[in-house]
Amino acid sequence: MSRATNFFAGPSVLPVEVFQQIAEEMVDYKGTGLSLMETSHRSKTYDEVHNGAVEMMKEIFSIPDNYKVLFLGGGATLQFSMIPLNFLGEGSTADYTLTGTWSKKAAADAAKVGKVNVVFDGKEKNYTTLADASTLKPGEGSKYFHMTSNETIGGIQWKNWPDTGNVPLICDMSSDILSRPVPVEKFGMIYAGAQKNLGPSGATIVIIRDDLVEKCPDSLTAYLNYKTHADSNSLYNTPPVFPIYAINLVLKRMKENGGLEGMVAHNKKKAELLYSAIDNSNGYYRSPVDEAYRSNMNVVFRLPNEDLEKKFIEEATAERMYGLKGHRSVGGCRASIYNSMTIEGVEKLTSFMKDFASKN
Ligand code: PMP
Repeated sequence: MSRATNFFAGPSVLPVEVFQQIAEEMVDYKGTGLSLMETSHRSKTYDEVHNGAVEMMKEIFSIPDNYKVLFLGGGATLQFSMIPLNFLGEGSTADYTLTGTWSKKAAADAAKVGKVNVVFDGKEKNYTTLADASTLKPGEGSKYFHMTSNETIGGIQWKNWPDTGNVPLICDMSSDILSRPVPVEKFGMIYAGAQKNLGPSGATIVIIRDDLVEKCPDSLTAYLNYKTHADSNSLYNTPPVFPIYAINLVLKRMKENGGLEGMVAHNKKKAELLYSAIDNSNGYYRSPVDEAYRSNMNVVFRLPNEDLEKKFIEEATAERMYGLKGHRSVGGCRASIYNSMTIEGVEKLTSFMKDFASKN
């Protein structure tokens, strides 16, 4: 078996050991004579998988007891609607930070439900820098304060958190959840699509504080109401069984490898390797992102011109390094080095970068 090196932004790299275990268990799950894929979500077999994922998430991410961990469908994108539907309402206002593609999408959906107060807008600097988050303040009477911890396309990442007082802080952590420690108790709600650091696509994790659950309006239809899912441990309807099963395996592996602390060291090393390859290239590779806010998950970079970028991506692809093309909206190159990317994978890329620069 020869595996390629996967720099895709999502769905993205997962541990090969997890795929191997899934392959082994797929036809006959732990001697039950059934695949988990054909097993009822109300069975004891599935219960263990589901609750195991919830419990490991709580343990690894240090989630306090007054929060629920939910697994929902609809991607992180459904959260862009569910958040304002549950907490905003017509006529009221919520704070949004605009830091790139994803936060703007979240704000655009909220603006269809109520009023959006922009507390930070990176537009002037083309979304290449952020601010000291501790200087950001919620607006008067705001229902919640929304931010996107890591902009997957722009490769930019908040390094600290605002103090929003009684205004619930809500954060989209789709592309950096479990990559670094987070003071969960500062947040009213954290959400993330699974398909970057947690597992395959199809499940969205929602970590929500109990008092916010109690605020969800009864007038909402069942699925759109967080209370429905919080009251039924995400089993109101059939949950996304396969991704939750894979998340369980990814979390188990993470625990075995030093939990969040182990992951922080692993991610720091990878980001340092890649950014120093960029910074030590005599300007051949260039990061457009303010150094203070560079993402440790999505590393975006440019070459001297677009023809060279095209050649770089083609030759890297021939070397079986996939997914290095920047998002179509911004161009350039992007290497996503999520939790499951190995040090060897990043080293393969940095050595290719050096070689390419010397030949071109
Ligand atoms: N937020 C961020 C930060 C993302 O990177 C993405 C997807 N790349 C989304 C939201 C949307 O997620 P989904 O495709 O799961 O709806």
